[in-house]
Amino acid sequence: MNEDCTRYLDLLLDSLDEPLAPADRLAFDAHLARCPDCVVALKEHVVLRTTIQEIDQAPAALVPPALPEYLVARCVSAMRLERSAFEAGGRSGNARTA
Ligand SMILES: [Zn+2]
Repeated sequence: MNEDCTRYLDLLLDSLDEPLAPADRLAFDAHLARCPDCVVALKEHVVLRTTIQEIDQAPAALVPPALPEYLVARCVSAMRLERSAFEAGGRSGNARTA
C-alpha cells in the first residue's frame, strides 16, 4: 500500500456494496491494474465479506456460542504480552545504538 492506495480504500469498500460511479470505476480499475497490494486487499475483503455473510446465514446450531470469558481474558492477555514484547524489542533496538 502506498499513499495513493489510501485514496482508493473507500472506493474498494464501496465497490463491495454497490456499483461505483463510472468515473470512480475507471479510476479504481486503473489503480488496480498497477497496484498488486490493492488487488490483494480487494480479494481479502471479498473473502471476509463472504465469510461474514455465510456466518450470518448459517443455522444458529452451526455458529459456535460466544467464547467463554476466561478464553477472552487469556486472548487479551496474550495480545498485551505480544504487544509489550514488540514494544520492548523496538526500544532495545534503539538502546543498542544509543
Ligand atoms: Zn493501491
